Amino acid sequence: MPIDATQAYDDGNIFAKILRGEIPSTKVYEDEWACAFEDINPQAAVHTLVVPKGRYVSWDDFSASASAEEIAGFVRAVGTVAREKGLVEPGYRLLANTGGHAGQEVPHLHVHIFGGEPLGRMIGG
Ligand code: AMP
Repeated sequence: MPIDATQAYDDGNIFAKILRGEIPSTKVYEDEWACAFEDINPQAAVHTLVVPKGRYVSWDDFSASASAEEIAGFVRAVGTVAREKGLVEPGYRLLANTGGHAGQEVPHLHVHIFGGEPLGRMIGG
C-alpha cells in the first residue's frame, strides 16, 4: 500500500530500524549524513538504496525541511556510492518514489540507484 508523502514520520518504519541497527542490511556505505544498503528485492544488476540519517518521510519532506548541510551530505553520499560501485562510466539511474502515484512503500526517504546493465528508457509500464 503506497504511503502518503505528507504523513508524519513513523519511527517504526523499516529503514529507521535499519539505521538503528535493529534489523540486518547489506550496508555498502555510511557517513554522518547517509547510509546505503542493497535492496532486498533487486530490480537491476545493481540496486542500492541510499537513505538520509534524518527523519524524513519523502523527497517532498526532505526538500522542504532538511537543512542545507543535510541536503548536501545526502546528495554527495548518493554520488559517492555510485562512484564507488563503478557506475559512472557505464551509467546509472536514480529514482525517488514519492507518495501514492509513484508507489512509495517505505515512509523514510530513499533514493534507488540502478545500474550494472542497460536499463531501458525511463519508466516501466
Ligand atoms: P519504494 O517503493 O520506493 O518505497 O521502495 C521500497 C524498496 O525497499 C523496495 O525496492 C524494497 O525491495 C526495498 N526494501 C524493503 N525492505 C527492505 C529491507 N529490509 N532491506 C532492503 N531493502 C528493502
